[in-house]
Amino acid sequence: MLLKHTTDQVKERKALTVNPAKTCQPVGAMYAALGIHGCLPHSHGSQGCCSYHRSALTRHYKEPVMAATSSFTEGSSVFGGQANLMTAIDNIFGIYEPEIIAVHSTCLSETIGDDLCQMVAKAREEGKVPFGKHVIQASTPSYVGSHVTGYANMLEGIVKYFPEKTDERLRQINLLAGWVEPSDMRELKRLVGLLKVKSVLLPDTSDVLDTPMTGKYEMYPKGGTTIPDMVSMGDSMKTVGLGDWGTRKAAIALDNKCKVPFDIVDLPIGLRASDRFIQALAKAGKVSVPESIADERGRLVDAITDMHQYLYGKRVAVFGDPDNILPLIEFLLDMDMKPVYTVSGTPGKAFMKRMEELVGKQCPEAKYKNGPQADMLLIHQWIKQEPVDLIIGNTYGKYISRDEGIPFVRMGFPILDRIGHSYFPSVGYMGALRILEKILGALMDKIDATSPEESFELTM
Ligand code: SF4
Repeated sequence: MLLKHTTDQVKERKALTVNPAKTCQPVGAMYAALGIHGCLPHSHGSQGCCSYHRSALTRHYKEPVMAATSSFTEGSSVFGGQANLMTAIDNIFGIYEPEIIAVHSTCLSETIGDDLCQMVAKAREEGKVPFGKHVIQASTPSYVGSHVTGYANMLEGIVKYFPEKTDERLRQINLLAGWVEPSDMRELKRLVGLLKVKSVLLPDTSDVLDTPMTGKYEMYPKGGTTIPDMVSMGDSMKTVGLGDWGTRKAAIALDNKCKVPFDIVDLPIGLRASDRFIQALAKAGKVSVPESIADERGRLVDAITDMHQYLYGKRVAVFGDPDNILPLIEFLLDMDMKPVYTVSGTPGKAFMKRMEELVGKQCPEAKYKNGPQADMLLIHQWIKQEPVDLIIGNTYGKYISRDEGIPFVRMGFPILDRIGHSYFPSVGYMGALRILEKILGALMDKIDATSPEESFELTM
């Protein structure tokens, strides 16, 4: 009973978060930067911050995550970290030879007022950035927002720097990915390929954080969006952003810079969000949907029909990142499940409105909240008040699952206690099928484990 002190008494809290349902901004900035080919993320702050961000990503993806740090000492904490960053840029290009350094700030460097824009400009003026190499930056103070905010800020930093507009319009679309697994990025590219739409996916962590074992270490794996592709994004016909929190800022920045119009749709998690994604792609690419995609959709609908009898009416608690859990909630509702409790540590006013639209009529008893006090304590307290049949969220849900004896499906970031999740997509129709299979498996396992012998069935 690790959480034995949790009670069902919910008290109003203004300045206290207990077990947050989020992590810190630079983790997201680092993940976005890893989705660029030949890029070394750089954490402008203390070594401890950088170690934490790297280890959070390494533990989830089970891959070595390389990043540099400005290694603040007491002196830089008082007088500013400019000198450290100048030395770091010099050393990194000299020793590790990346194409790009992606610098993000931390709580400490933001608090003392370090101006990354000015510092990077100074590095360029002083000739510390070799010809043909690049330094980009993003402000990621972790006392606001979450890892999703950091991801969005770095994505915005990338599109402010690379895309260029020429006189030539290209028959291609920009696909801005929200925070999903490398396998999801691969699946997005597969679906775009089936539609025969030329696209640039940014960022793209496939073949970076799921590289094959070759016996040879590559500091910069073959994956990641390339510089020429990022430059060409300024001439694309359209941008499709996947997830409001992760991609809207970047889509706006690209439109402002290069006049590339954009649509934001949900991450394609579940049936209807996948439909909207496919329709948005078909519209942006001016193509029709091929039979192969219609078949995938049909197989998913068939599976939903088979599983519906077991899923109907099941009460679910969900926590995670807004771009990921909003379409998931919609998917649960499509299967007549009841997402009764939802929390997301990432702030943003649109969350409550979207949730209200989603659950309003179908699940009026639902409780939901986002922001700093929407934490793991709150969702546990709600579960204590009235239990659920299933919990869906990242690894941290295992404490509640164990204490309350509730089946648990791991989804989101981070997943620290299982291996393999980053190899199987959750997006698109195939991804939705996998989510369904995991949900049904968890519910059925509980029935098998707890049913009395006389009703223990071989065939469900
Ligand atoms: S100090 Fe801030 S940036 Fe560093 S690890 Fe903690 S929350 Fe993240």
